[in-house]
Amino acid sequence: MSIRWDRDEDGVVTLTLDKPSSSANTMDAAFQAAFGETVDRLVAEKDTVKGVIITSAKKTFFAGGDLDELIRARPENRADLLATVTDIKRRLRTIETLGVPVVAAINGAALGGGLEIALAAHYRVVLDTPATKLGFPEVTLGLLPGAGGVVRSVRLLGLFNALLQLLLQGQQLRAPAAKDLGLVHEVVSTPEELLASARSWIAANPTAAQPYDTKGYKVPGGLPTSPSLAGLLPALPANLHKQLKGANLPAPHHILCAAVEGLLVDVDTAFVIEGRYFADLATGPISTNMIQAFWFDLNRINGGGSRPDGVPSFAPTKVGVIGAGMMGAGIAYVTAKAGIDVVLKDVSAEAAEKGKAYSQKILEKRRGTPEKNQALLARIQPTDDYADLAGCDFVIEAVFEDVAVKHRVLAEAAAAAPDALITSNTSTLPITELQEGAGLPDLVGVHFFSPVDKMPLIELIVGANTSPEAVAKAYDYTRAIGKTPIVVKDSRGFFTSRVFGTMVMEGAALLAEGLPAMSIERAALQSGFPAGPLTLLDEVTLTLPLKIEEQGGAAAEHPGLAVLRTLVNEHGRTGKAAGKGFFDWEPAKQVWPGLAEVFPPNMDGLAPGSGPGVRFQDAKDRLLFIMAVETARCFEEGVLSSVEDANIGSIMGIGFPPGLGGVAQFVDQYGVEAFVARADELADKFGERFRPPALLRDRAVAAGSLRAALA
Ligand code: NAD
Repeated sequence: MSIRWDRDEDGVVTLTLDKPSSSANTMDAAFQAAFGETVDRLVAEKDTVKGVIITSAKKTFFAGGDLDELIRARPENRADLLATVTDIKRRLRTIETLGVPVVAAINGAALGGGLEIALAAHYRVVLDTPATKLGFPEVTLGLLPGAGGVVRSVRLLGLFNALLQLLLQGQQLRAPAAKDLGLVHEVVSTPEELLASARSWIAANPTAAQPYDTKGYKVPGGLPTSPSLAGLLPALPANLHKQLKGANLPAPHHILCAAVEGLLVDVDTAFVIEGRYFADLATGPISTNMIQAFWFDLNRINGGGSRPDGVPSFAPTKVGVIGAGMMGAGIAYVTAKAGIDVVLKDVSAEAAEKGKAYSQKILEKRRGTPEKNQALLARIQPTDDYADLAGCDFVIEAVFEDVAVKHRVLAEAAAAAPDALITSNTSTLPITELQEGAGLPDLVGVHFFSPVDKMPLIELIVGANTSPEAVAKAYDYTRAIGKTPIVVKDSRGFFTSRVFGTMVMEGAALLAEGLPAMSIERAALQSGFPAGPLTLLDEVTLTLPLKIEEQGGAAAEHPGLAVLRTLVNEHGRTGKAAGKGFFDWEPAKQVWPGLAEVFPPNMDGLAPGSGPGVRFQDAKDRLLFIMAVETARCFEEGVLSSVEDANIGSIMGIGFPPGLGGVAQFVDQYGVEAFVARADELADKFGERFRPPALLRDRAVAAGSLRAALA
């Protein structure tokens, strides 16, 4: 039985959520059945029940919806899904209107469905532990809280607070913050206090009811029809549009609609509205993609999916960072933030101090206590002396991207910290070459992304002589600083830079074909990229792809290269750092007015009345397809070995649209066969670079999906 029933001599019934043989409670079919029976019993024994406490026997209070089930929901399952959420909502409504006080004694994380159960109680007391988080992360999985979470949070907190502090961004609040927001009533620090406080509240409030069921209740901030709120309402969709930049993410939109529309009607009708929007999201493709990527794929990676087996776990205690520039300074910060001592080495004491000052600057912008900030800074020891690396168990080299300098620095680091695993943050240099040139027995690439304190991904690079122990240690370091590691094989551009390069170069090629710059950027944003390819090229500098081209010389000339050469060589426009690239960046970003003269727009198929917008759809597809085709090549060459790494690496490292679930999931959601046909079409029209490799054409088509082909 998923729910235990204990009635004490005072008539208080404690319902303990305890899904058998599972570490967490979820809203699966067994829970629903047990919940139904429990609520029926409460109704039947109502006269002898003086109060209800809902708590949990697990470390968390309640984990939420059953994602195994939700990921499989398709449009044909809509009616069933609707029936399920309607049933849960009806039961929760029965509990809150039973006429006895109900308290949620929240003993750990209550996210999603867990918070929805808690909101159906009249009083919420929460145990403050570091793991206690409250919130509605549904939006990050393309869903909304469909068991009353939208309706109740909006009525209790007010429309703006509920939307902005909880629903639209999926914030996860610690207990004190949840209390500040008004989401819970009381915070306690021991399990004993939790239940004692629940009992005394029940004793003191025998006639408890929900505020919104109480006569004269006014929703904080007012109703959409009240003048005070009506004037502010248009700001909501406007801000949402600005935030999403045109990306096709239906969840925030549906949440907004359910919240506003729900406030215009009574509670029960509001539940119906919420349920319909939920069913829409849950049966659509975007939630499938996002649940796959941000739940299943991410959990597999963070749970050690790509970590070599059989290597004992490693907890870094003292990390050496060599090079206190932009990257090294950021690496020192995130490492010290995780409670690990850092030795930050540069060529001079001033340079090392400057690197440490970067942490100070970040801390000034954040709201930490002075003690915590001081402690973090105290963990970073700036130095110009290799001798200070003694005692380090992990060293990250982050000096200039120069082979000779790196060879020397890596060898010096190995001599100074003989017990440490030596790693390199190089973004382009082959790991095997660095390892051999520096005369090291072992080396692993630990490729951070910029800015280090914000970007969640790390790409671990395995060279020809990299040991499984080194990969495992680097993996453990990455997890220790709270980042997500993907593991790829050493090769030009590794995975992320290589696939990123194809997308931005496609943007340049589109410009050469006469697609106006703003249409190119818009195509990317509408597909769900956080920025357009021309903006991204300006940011990485136009000279970078040219330099890479000179070093390696791709097999065939990419049409985008000519565009970069023209801008750099003939117009001196090298990108954002210089203030001018595709865009003028000063005083405010705008497309360089001269761009249309150098690359005259061709509006065929674009201007109103001149065609069905085929070229715009082609542009959108090209940016996505070229990344997917290149990813398939990475799999064929063994650069990548798991779809999880491809999905998470592409979303977290290089901005692949999150709603598409990552670059491998994109292929599978599109349908492999349809993907191959469309890629062939693009190859015939725009160049062989779109031609799908055999992995897609043969193996994936035969297996039914890329995921199945690689399993
Ligand atoms: P940077 O120029 O900002 O910093 C390099 C630092 O290394 C400077 O402070 C320099 O004084 C120091 N240095 C040089 N020689 C040294 C030596 N012998 N001993 C100690 N310190 C020395 O460069 P960055 O942008 O921080 O890049 C560092 C590394 O990180 C490069 O390998 C780069 O490819 C890689 N990387 C950069 C990015 C990025 O976005 N900039 C992203 C990922 C990886």
